[in-house]
Amino acid sequence: MKLATRMLSLKESPTLATSAKVKKLNAEGKGVINFAAGEPDFDTPDFAKEAAIKAIRDGHNGYTPASGTPAIKKAVIDWVKKDLALDYKPGEVIVSLGAKHSLYNISQVLYEEGDEVIIFAPYWVTYPDQVMLAGATPVIVDCRAEDGFNPDIKELESKITDKTKALILNSPGNPSGAVYSDDTVKAIAELAVKRDFIIVSDECYDKIVYEGKPLSPATLGDDVKSRTLLVNAWSKTYSMTGWRLGYTLGPAEIVKAMSNIQSQSTSNPVTPMQFGGARALGDLDFLAERVAEFKKRRDVMVAALNGLDGVSCIMPKGAFYAFPDFGGWIGKTYKGEKINDDAQLTNMLIDHAR
Ligand code: PLP
Repeated sequence: MKLATRMLSLKESPTLATSAKVKKLNAEGKGVINFAAGEPDFDTPDFAKEAAIKAIRDGHNGYTPASGTPAIKKAVIDWVKKDLALDYKPGEVIVSLGAKHSLYNISQVLYEEGDEVIIFAPYWVTYPDQVMLAGATPVIVDCRAEDGFNPDIKELESKITDKTKALILNSPGNPSGAVYSDDTVKAIAELAVKRDFIIVSDECYDKIVYEGKPLSPATLGDDVKSRTLLVNAWSKTYSMTGWRLGYTLGPAEIVKAMSNIQSQSTSNPVTPMQFGGARALGDLDFLAERVAEFKKRRDVMVAALNGLDGVSCIMPKGAFYAFPDFGGWIGKTYKGEKINDDAQLTNMLIDHAR
């Protein structure tokens, strides 16, 4: 069987693969602690569950418009108006099956062969693969721990070319937990206007923050907003990862194209979940307690990592990740096995230390 050429370079998500490995071991009773996937261990708030259950009982079981019900679009528009003082029209919003799906739709309607898309490293592993799947080239700009993983703007500038179609911004970021400084976001926004590229701003951790407040580029004026795709999701904030709900706000022309691709692939986000999502959006009273718990865990985790010989970890400002540098362990040997890279180390930690 010959698969399509585009599949040659597409890998399984390493996060999901590691997570699946741990889940399999745990099903065998191995008791591995799973730090692989970005999934809150809290439950979905009851008010969201009840709204979805009611929608099922009320018979809302059919298709909706592919880009989401008018009610959930209104909920998104009202929330973003309240939260970020941004105005969007119904034609400028699309609800998809999670932020990953939103980003996938963006990649399919915007990127093509010959395009370059800038991604800051360390990055969420899905970004480059979606870019490549669309036939475009990811251009990686490395960021350093000593800069709080903020990109060096001169280095960024040197990577922008006439082929630069877009730049993916993710603050707070997976996996570093970095929250970019206002100066960094403003400098990126200025470059986007000057060098004419699109900002894809993945803001799915915007409400899980311990220090500072992430700056949403779309708030920096109409010239920036008109070239920004603001992506967010219910997944992390509301502990609704399995519900598969995310949204994109941006120029009507791009949103319409995303809606077309959605209508030819998945159709609408799952109908009862849209009712739950519309009910939940912006109702955040439950969240402070959870963020405080994440912060406690962050402090314990980062201290423990920094207590290991040869390991260093900067304090994440947001999200629920720690991004330790295990560089001091690479090249060492454990039980006769040499540690060659991070992937091997991950597997050894699971197998030996669980
Ligand atoms: N964007 C980032 C940065 C993420 O870390 C994740 C999940 O880990 C997603 C998007 C995907 O979110 P969703 O579950 O809403 O598709």
